[in-house]
Amino acid sequence: MRYLPLHVDLRDRTVLVIGGGEVARRKVDLLLRAGARVHLIALQIIPKLRVMLEDHVIVESAYSGLPAELSIALVIAATSDAKLNERISVAAQADNIPVNVVDAPSLSSVIFPAIIDRDPVIVSVGSSAASPVLTRSVRQLIETHLPQGLSRLAAYLGSRRDRMKDLMPDLEQRRRKTEKFLSSPGVAAVDAGDLKQADQYLLHQSNDLVTGEVFIVGAGPGDPDLLTLKALQLMQLADVVFYDNLVSDAVLDRVRRDASMEFVGKRSGYRSTSQEDINDLLVRLALEGQRVLRLKGGDPFVFGRGGEEITALIHQEIPFKVVPGITAASGCAAYAGIPLTHRELAQSVRFVTGHPKNGQVDLPWQELTHQNETIVFYMGLGGLTAICSQMLRHGRRADTPVAIISKGTTPDQQVLKGNLETIPGMVARTQIQSPTLIIVGEVINFAAH
Ligand code: SAH
Repeated sequence: MRYLPLHVDLRDRTVLVIGGGEVARRKVDLLLRAGARVHLIALQIIPKLRVMLEDHVIVESAYSGLPAELSIALVIAATSDAKLNERISVAAQADNIPVNVVDAPSLSSVIFPAIIDRDPVIVSVGSSAASPVLTRSVRQLIETHLPQGLSRLAAYLGSRRDRMKDLMPDLEQRRRKTEKFLSSPGVAAVDAGDLKQADQYLLHQSNDLVTGEVFIVGAGPGDPDLLTLKALQLMQLADVVFYDNLVSDAVLDRVRRDASMEFVGKRSGYRSTSQEDINDLLVRLALEGQRVLRLKGGDPFVFGRGGEEITALIHQEIPFKVVPGITAASGCAAYAGIPLTHRELAQSVRFVTGHPKNGQVDLPWQELTHQNETIVFYMGLGGLTAICSQMLRHGRRADTPVAIISKGTTPDQQVLKGNLETIPGMVARTQIQSPTLIIVGEVINFAAH
């Protein structure tokens, strides 16, 4: 390891900055955030920088050596003159003052990492000056995995340190308790500002009081990159996962390795778990103190029976969270290049279940015939012939475009396009695999208009 990362306390320490341009401004911004006193030497200073330094020292002259009267904690050379930067570096190093020359690691005794500032949590990332671009991209990767409420969580834990010490004098016991807390619903309680509830998890000696929690999470239509960050975080936290057939393997791969996985979907040859049984399971395991993840395809509240599940949870006073997912209509339409609405072609869109019962699809057909409305049928493949003939009978034009999207957003996505008259025949001649979504409306051929 060439560089040891240290987090330096610069509050009220003097930092000498030489240079008055944008590069200097970016460094000054960081220094001010860290509470440093800035002493700036520059011939020319951009206005933005001048404003920032209102309460600090600005010397508008050429650099002529380190000011001897100052006790300097750090020197930053940010001029555009490479020779001058080098002189500054030599002078600082001769005085044993840490120096950073912007963009010149060989002249620097300290270098700035890329940082993620979730004060009081600071993550710093460096590549030992190998590649700042790479460093920034690593920072981005880490950033997407950090929970939103990190600052608040750290502040909360800081505020409880003394009380924990009083309650649990043993260091090891405190460490275990804090670890346990971090994967408990107490974290969500801090996020929601309910510190009393959080204290239950952090400060209580016995865990008897603690019930688990249920996360009802939308897994999106198939492509794992369409998961929300929140979904991913909860997938990493869950003890037990209930999923159904719409949740793709690629998504399941991202669940915490040691979570127990329970399939509760319908699959031919298997006895499917009834909705009542699923509700009961969620409740029972949460009461045992487990973090239960209910992973559902698309969005849990769009033809997902999420409503029934939360009713059961509310009834039993189990804490729960619902995380939205990208519903099949949004995902499939986007990946098939079909805008669901369009200024001229469709001013509204309707999501309808096309699930047939006894060969019939029972819908208010007269409402579905407006030329300027896009209709998306979920679960409609089995009833496709009935759907098309009903729409025609109720007056939607025969040449109204129809798209069938199979396995949308996955590498196996297939799109079949026809119109209300032709599509049932086309489907009969093709092997279409479920799940499939039916989109009806002029937007399908929008590019042709
Ligand atoms: N809650 C889900 C919908 C569940 S109903 C959501 O918001 O998307 C199940 C229906 O969704 C399927 O019959 C199919 O019509 C549709 N569907 C789900 N995923 C799909 C996909 N990847 N491609 C095409 N249709 C899909």
